[in-house]
Amino acid sequence: MRCGRWRPVSGMALEAEERTRRTLRAADVKAIAREHGFPLAGIAAASPLADAERYGAWVDRGMAGAMGYLTDHRRDKRGDPATLLPGVRSILCVGLLYNTAHPCSTSFSQADRAWISRYAWGEDYHQILAEGLRSVEAHLREISSESFDAKICVDTAPILERSYARQAGLGWIGKNTCLIHEPTGSWYFLGELLLSLELEPDTPAQDRCGSCRRCIDACPTGAIVPRKSPDGDRYFVDARACISYYTIEKKNEIPEEARVGNGWHVFGCDICQDVCPWNRRAPITGDARFEPLLPPAPPLERLAAITEAEFRELFVNSPVSRSKYKGFIRNVIVAMGNSGSPEFRTVLERLASHSDETIARHAAWALARLRGEAT
Ligand code: SF4
Ligand code: SF4
Repeated sequence: MRCGRWRPVSGMALEAEERTRRTLRAADVKAIAREHGFPLAGIAAASPLADAERYGAWVDRGMAGAMGYLTDHRRDKRGDPATLLPGVRSILCVGLLYNTAHPCSTSFSQADRAWISRYAWGEDYHQILAEGLRSVEAHLREISSESFDAKICVDTAPILERSYARQAGLGWIGKNTCLIHEPTGSWYFLGELLLSLELEPDTPAQDRCGSCRRCIDACPTGAIVPRKSPDGDRYFVDARACISYYTIEKKNEIPEEARVGNGWHVFGCDICQDVCPWNRRAPITGDARFEPLLPPAPPLERLAAITEAEFRELFVNSPVSRSKYKGFIRNVIVAMGNSGSPEFRTVLERLASHSDETIARHAAWALARLRGEAT
C-alpha cells in the first residue's frame, strides 16, 4: 500500500529509562534522528554562512532564471536561519535515501522513451520528510529537560540547505552542486530541524571531487560552469542551461534554443548524478514510497495519451504535479520532437491543433524538428 504515513526504518520503542528527561546533547539528537529513519544526521551551528555570498553571486549573474522564489525578498534570508526562527542556535540536518533498484538514465538508449528524474518517481518527499522531522521533534520534546523552539524546513523555507548539510558533516557539495555523502553518494532528500538548543556542531565534510569532472563533461547542455574564488574553483549550475529548470520550473514556452537540449527528459534530469562515481555503489532504500509510479523510462506515446484528469489522479501525491498538466505534455511533445521517430507524427499532428496555444506551438515545433527543419 502506498501512503504518506511516516514509517521509521528502525524500531521506535524506547525503554522507560530512556524517556527520563535530560539535557539534550548532539549525540542524543542525531541518534533520535537515525532512530526515526534518517540515515544521515548531523548538527550545524546556526550561524550565517559565507555561502550566502556565493548564492548572491549566482543570482546576480541571472543564473536562477525566472525562479522568483529564489530571487525575491527571500534571497537575503537564506544565509541566516535566525530570519526563520529567532533564537535558533543549532540545525539538525538530515538526509533520507531515495535510491531504488532501477537503472539510471545513462543506461537507456531507446528513442521512444521518456525520462522522469529519480527523485520524482514515488511519493512527494516534502510530506514524508516533514512527517519524519515532526516525529523527531516530538521525541526530543518528550525527553528534553529544557523547553525549546523548533522549526521544520523541507524545501519550504529559504535556507541554504546543502551548505548547512555540509557544515553538519553530511557530505560535500560536488561540482554538480549536489550534496554527496562519502561513501553512499547523492541520492538523498535533505531536511532541517532548526532548534533553539545549543548543540555541539559536527565537522564539515571534506570535498572529495578532486580532479574528477565527469558531471561537467556529461552534462549535455554545458550547465555546470566554474567560478573562480580565493579558495579555489567553485561550480554553479546555470539554470538557464539546465534541463531540470526547463522541464520543471519553466512555465509556458520553452525557448526554442533550449528545446533540443532537453533530449528525452520530461521531468528533471539525472545525468550529472548518474555519472558521479560516488553513486556507483549507492545503497538502495527499502522504502516502498520511493518506488516508481510508472516504469522508469516510460514510453513517450503512453505519456502523450494522458488526459488532464488522469494526470491529476496519477500524480496527485507526486513531485511531477509541480509541472502541471500543460507543462508535462509540453515536455513530452519536445521529447517526441527530439526522438527522431517519425511514428510520433500522428500524435503530434493531433496536438498541433490543441486548444492550448503553448501545447499547439510546441507540437508544431516538434513536427518541424522531425522533418529536420528545427534545430
Ligand atoms: S541536471 Fe542535467 S542539465 Fe542540469 S546540470 Fe545536471 S546534467 Fe546538466
Ligand atoms: S562526477 Fe566527479 S566532479 Fe562531479 S560531483 Fe561527482 S565526484 Fe564531483
